[in-house]
Amino acid sequence: MWRSSPERELAASWEADAAAGRAPAAEAGEPPRVDAGAAGEPERPAREEQPKAVLQAPARPRAAEEGDARVARRLPPALPLAPPRPAARALCQLAKARGRGRGYRRGSGSLRPVTVDSSKARTSLDALKISLRQLRWKEFPFGRRLPCDIYWHGVSFHDNDILSGQVNKFPGMTEMVRKITLSRALRIMQNLFPEEYNFYPRSWILPEEFQLFVAQVRMVKDGDPSWKPTFIVKPDGGCQGDGIYLIKDPNDIRLTGTLQSRPAVVQEYIYKPLLIDKLKFDIRLYVLLKSLDPLEIYIAKDGLSRFCTEPYQEPNPQNLHHVFMHLTNYSLNIHSGKFIHSDSASTGSKRTFSSILCRLSSKGVDIKKVWSDIISLVIKTVIALTPELKVFYQSDIPTGRPGPTCFQILGFDILLMKSLKPMLLEVNANPSMRIEHEYELSPGVFENIPSLVDEEVKVAVIRDTLRLMDPLKKKKETHFPDICMGRKHRIPPVSDRMSSSKFKGSSLSVARSQHPEKPVTGKEDLDCEMTGDPDSNPEAHLPSICLKQVFPKYAKQFNYLRLVDRMANLFIRFLGIKGTMKLGPTGFRTFIRNCKLSSSSLSMAAVDILYIDITRRWNSVTLDQRDSGMCLQAFVEAFFFLAQRKFKMLPLHEQVASLIDLCEYHLSLLDEKRLLCGRRRRPQSSPPQEMNARTQSAAGSLAPRMIGANKLSHSRHALS
Ligand code: ADP
Repeated sequence: MWRSSPERELAASWEADAAAGRAPAAEAGEPPRVDAGAAGEPERPAREEQPKAVLQAPARPRAAEEGDARVARRLPPALPLAPPRPAARALCQLAKARGRGRGYRRGSGSLRPVTVDSSKARTSLDALKISLRQLRWKEFPFGRRLPCDIYWHGVSFHDNDILSGQVNKFPGMTEMVRKITLSRALRIMQNLFPEEYNFYPRSWILPEEFQLFVAQVRMVKDGDPSWKPTFIVKPDGGCQGDGIYLIKDPNDIRLTGTLQSRPAVVQEYIYKPLLIDKLKFDIRLYVLLKSLDPLEIYIAKDGLSRFCTEPYQEPNPQNLHHVFMHLTNYSLNIHSGKFIHSDSASTGSKRTFSSILCRLSSKGVDIKKVWSDIISLVIKTVIALTPELKVFYQSDIPTGRPGPTCFQILGFDILLMKSLKPMLLEVNANPSMRIEHEYELSPGVFENIPSLVDEEVKVAVIRDTLRLMDPLKKKKETHFPDICMGRKHRIPPVSDRMSSSKFKGSSLSVARSQHPEKPVTGKEDLDCEMTGDPDSNPEAHLPSICLKQVFPKYAKQFNYLRLVDRMANLFIRFLGIKGTMKLGPTGFRTFIRNCKLSSSSLSMAAVDILYIDITRRWNSVTLDQRDSGMCLQAFVEAFFFLAQRKFKMLPLHEQVASLIDLCEYHLSLLDEKRLLCGRRRRPQSSPPQEMNARTQSAAGSLAPRMIGANKLSHSRHALS
């Protein structure tokens, strides 16, 4: 497995390919392509404390946020330090010129504007305000006594106690995307589907897997003495490169002191990244998780690329500590003397991803394939995260209790290898939505000035997320049927506005006028044709939506990967007590009984021992000690164990799929039986009282999914 790691499978260099005028060959064994058509920067996470960087970071103060910039060396000195934000100004003028107020009116029917509570928006406030003005929605910057339609939180689901409406955070997301939790979730998927999940570097969790890490590295080195790996150590819950360092030898891990108190992930270092201008860069892509169940995922068509500021060299003992060569974090590189601030989207140390794609395309790279691989990476990663998110969700918002619905914008950090294969670095639950950077007026005196590249990308992401989540959409569609038919650009994109202002001639506007509106995706936008009367369409002044749906659109290609999701459904069904996240021994026994998994070779006493053994081990390694009992990951481990016992000869994912089929089958029979009993007892009544809403929905979702005849006979055969 080690040998086939992505790092060691690198194809011929991209630069050589580009020089030869050809795109690198697609990698063998890739899954069927998805359409290209969608497109990355991190943030201050939900923690208060920020540890210090361990690499040779400069002694200067750290930018307060990933979106911050303390150096604006390319700005002309005459530029006013804090000009009014162009997007906001243009919008105000536009609104005045039209003489329209907020809200929608047509004929006798009138619709109130969507209401948004922005009191907890924190650093995303500026971008949110611009978006709301563009949408002509009503903002409540200090909250509201009456409920709002949408609550915009800067950090977490729990920023406010909300009982209705929609909130832009899922409970548990921050926990789910921490480095260790993400690595665990992806490892489960790597065990089930090693080929499909080879986009995440092989990782070990410290301190618990330190010995395993040392042993595995030694084993590979013994087999291949020429192998000279590099590893990157990342503290759990860290951000902005804090505490990260590179090592060549497992024994260089700093085990003393911090590691016990601050666990970490050690990961294979991708030592052959794609370079542009000899610099390493990464991609920040914005992904909207619109709904968990049913799963709905959108990807923004443009993102950001963050560049290192020192030319890249493969890691060696002399350069291992060079932060500006190996780490692409904006918050670190902004402190390099070589950081180039630019208002152009296609130059400087922070650019749009679309400008990178344009450049690659001009060198003959198959960017549709790049996009297709990125979309696949995103869908697969979300599929790995959703099972535990569902457990968090039912715990915070149990079925039948009042609560908001959730959506969330995630920041995916992706590194393109020289072979153009995208690799996932991390997922951010609170991607920076700042649209300004700090300009150093004089030593130690900073002023905020707009960052046009950030504004271009981030305002579109927030605005279009809101459009997709619009709670009044159905009503508006009834009032304004043409809204669903088309759009017309009334407000020019930021780049166009810039080209008519003092930013005239900036390469951002040049790049955009050559490639208007969206990156070169090779895929036409289906929703940008104009029909109907623009004046009657409240969205007529808006650009076409920058978010592209990728799931359920590509569900057929990826649904087979959702095994852990189905396990989570089983897990949740047996949780019993509302609000809990852990399965008690009785719940586990009931699961075994109802799914008819015990047998002469698996007694209920053996089931109890299995429960105790696995639960104890997981509780000793997980940070969450809130409840006692079996967490989802422990349940998954127990499930794997049971599947391997029952379906011995199959590959792991087939063993697991067969056991899930079997469990779902028995549970659907049980649900049918209960329904029948209920009807007999209450011939004229509707659903029996004793079935709570969750059981009903489980029954509903399981019944139509009755397992296929071939699988069932297979399962029965295995049982006998
Ligand atoms: P943080 O949350 O602290 O930013 P990341 O996981 O994003 O942590 O890593 C910081 C930077 O380190 C990334 O932006 C990337 O440039 C570099 N990096 C992280 N992991 C790897 C890896 N496995 N191989 C190569 N570079 C990496």
